[in-house]
Amino acid sequence: MEAGSLLQSFAIAKNGRIVSVEEVERGQACECTCPCCHGSLIARQGDVRVWHFAHATGTDCEGGAESALHLAAKAVIEHAGGIMLPGMSVKRTHTLADGRRATADVSRPDTWVDFDEVQTEVDLGTVIPDVIGRTADAAYLIEVGVTRFVDSEKLAILQDLGSPAIEIDLRKFDREAWTWATLEDAVAQGVEGKRWLVYPDRGDLEALAIEKARLIAMAQPEPLQTQPQPSLKAHPSPARTRYRVQGRIVDLIDFPFGVALWSPYDAHFNEVIKGWSRAYGGRYQPNHRNWLFPTAAKSFLTAEIAKRQ
Ligand SMILES: [Zn+2]
Repeated sequence: MEAGSLLQSFAIAKNGRIVSVEEVERGQACECTCPCCHGSLIARQGDVRVWHFAHATGTDCEGGAESALHLAAKAVIEHAGGIMLPGMSVKRTHTLADGRRATADVSRPDTWVDFDEVQTEVDLGTVIPDVIGRTADAAYLIEVGVTRFVDSEKLAILQDLGSPAIEIDLRKFDREAWTWATLEDAVAQGVEGKRWLVYPDRGDLEALAIEKARLIAMAQPEPLQTQPQPSLKAHPSPARTRYRVQGRIVDLIDFPFGVALWSPYDAHFNEVIKGWSRAYGGRYQPNHRNWLFPTAAKSFLTAEIAKRQ
C-alpha cells in the first residue's frame, strides 16, 4: 500500500541510529540505509523539493517511507519519556420510572503520562504492539499508524488484553515530510491524531454519567399525576358547535351515528329545517327535540347555515 505523497524523511545511519534527513550529510555521504529494503539512500537536500531520502538505485521501495517514519515515531516516544493521552468523554441518558429523563456527560481531560520504560516490538503472545510505555502500574500499548491501522480483529485482541491502548494516526496530518519537531508534536505532545483503542476506565465514566443524568432528572419537576377517568373516556361529550342563524341559536352536535341539529322552537325556522330534512335525509327526534341527520349531511347543513348568517 502506498503512503500517498509521503516522502522518506528518516533513515538508518551507519551507527544504527534512526536519523532525519536534516541531520545528515548531503547525498551519498549520508551513509544511510533504508529500514525496509536495506538499500543505500541518498540525502536529497535541494532548494526546490522538501528534503528527503531517495534510494540510490533510482527506484524507491514501497515501504521505505513508512517504515522509517514508524521507527522515528517510536524514537520520539522513547526520547520524550512519555506521551500526552487524549481525553475521554462519555454521554449517557437516564430515564426515571415516572418518565423524567436527562442526559449528562462526563469527561476526562488530556493527560500527560510519564513512562518508566519504553519498549518496542515486544511480543505479547497474541499481538506485537508498536510501542509499550510502562508506568509503575500499567502498560500502555501504542500503535502508530501511517497506512496500516488497527482492524477489528486486532482491536478485539487488545480489548481482551485489557491494557490501555491508543492509536496515533499520522496520516491525519497529511504531511509530505516529517521532521523531529513535527513528529514530536504529533506523537508525544499533541492529541490530534490520537484515539483510544482500549480505555480501561470507560465503565467508571459511564456509571458516573448515568448517575449525573439521574440526579439531573430527579431535579426536574415531577410530572402531574393524572387520575384515570374511565367514565369520561368511555363516553366523551359529543362535540357541539353553536351557530347563529338570523339571531337564533342553532347547535350542531356530532355523534358517532350522525349529526343532530337543535334550535329553540320557532314556527318559521321549523319550516326551514323541515326543508333541510327532506333534502339531506334528516328526521325529527321527539324525545330529544332535535333533528338527526346522517354524518355526511353536515357539510350541507353548515353551508345552509352560512347562507343565513
Ligand atoms: Zn527501501
